[in-house]
Amino acid sequence: MRSADLFRARFGGAPDGVWLAPGRANLMGEHTDYNDGYVLPFALGQNIAAAAARRTGRRLALCSRQQPTAAVEIALDGLAPGQVTGWAAYPAGVAWELEQAGYQVPGARIAIDSDVPAGAGLSSSAALECATALALTELAGLAVSRPELAAIARRAENEFVGVPSGIMDQSASLLCQPGHALLLDCRSLESSQVPFDPAAAGAGLLLINTRAKHDLSDGEYGRRRAECEEAARRLGIPSLRSLTNLADVDRLTDPVLRRRARHVVADNQRVLDVVGLLSSPSAAVADTYHDIGRLLTQAHLSLRDDFEVSWPEADATVEAALAAGAFGARMIGGGFGGSVLALVPAAFGGPVRDAVTGAFAQRSWTAPEFLDAAPSASAHRVALQLVRLRPTGGSSAGA
Ligand code: ADP
Ligand code: MG
Repeated sequence: MRSADLFRARFGGAPDGVWLAPGRANLMGEHTDYNDGYVLPFALGQNIAAAAARRTGRRLALCSRQQPTAAVEIALDGLAPGQVTGWAAYPAGVAWELEQAGYQVPGARIAIDSDVPAGAGLSSSAALECATALALTELAGLAVSRPELAAIARRAENEFVGVPSGIMDQSASLLCQPGHALLLDCRSLESSQVPFDPAAAGAGLLLINTRAKHDLSDGEYGRRRAECEEAARRLGIPSLRSLTNLADVDRLTDPVLRRRARHVVADNQRVLDVVGLLSSPSAAVADTYHDIGRLLTQAHLSLRDDFEVSWPEADATVEAALAAGAFGARMIGGGFGGSVLALVPAAFGGPVRDAVTGAFAQRSWTAPEFLDAAPSASAHRVALQLVRLRPTGGSSAGA
């Protein structure tokens, strides 16, 4: 990534600073966030970089290396939802929500670069929001806590862009620590760091972007939310989080609602089970990863059969990865497209890639994209001079 070079080429002069915000993968807890449940994401080493500088006047200029358009100019005065469409709505939404929260946003020029694939379920959108949010607040010297910044970035996505997402993605991008996953209670918004360092235990995390994108996803996501709310209403509870006993799900007479609720209750428990395994690992560390892998695969089957949000490329990926020796694998994200997360013994990374590539070729699907994942740092400012002194091609965090 060379966001500072892009800044110089598009805007002239040097940026005041460069801020990175990571994408994320969710180890466990899918479709649990809007049910007030638990999620367990970790930050990726892949980031959105925002090279930014203040400018006089109340205007933003935005460009991105991944977008062919000329810089987008946005007036901060009179800004309102609906005025900005396309990718610039994410950073513009952050500026708007900061002002809604009472923070005065400075005029700024921002150049974006990224190695988080967009639309792959790895949350490039939240990374874009969080990089912008951190750049704007630090440029202006505003003291905004990370949890508040996450809430502001989430509202940008919900209210300004119009995507009804939960708080997980922005929390992961702003709160995760290297070598840890983030246990987030979506009811209380309390979070804690859970040690998670697969490499130290001879394991690896492989992300497989299946490249499938389904038009279904928006409508189906809304439908799942409505089904979960209806299940909770019929059970007389505020949200499905209140159920901790799987047997209580059987009080639902509607078979579809019963399946949806079963997934949510079981996945919340799987989050706690993974946290338990990571917090007190077995003396034979490989056993711990074996057990976590089994929970990942169980979660995939639950998402496939009970929640019905998987897609053929994800099912084939999980199947091929398991056959090639993965500890476990599951689809991540909302479903109907995006990525699969596989937990693999380090020595099996190559065979798993080959097996998945083969499964896709056999079905004449577009080849999948592989990314190595490692629990990494949350959003932060990078020292321009330091990064520019590194040998070229060496860093994904290039400024
Ligand atoms: P995900 O968050 O899973 O990657 P989304 O559909 O939520 O998928 O967000 C993808 C959108 O975020 C893109 O369509 C684009 O508008 C914006 N985006 C992501 N990365 C970039 C980038 N590098 N430059 C500009 N816009 C980006
Ligand atoms: Mg997104």
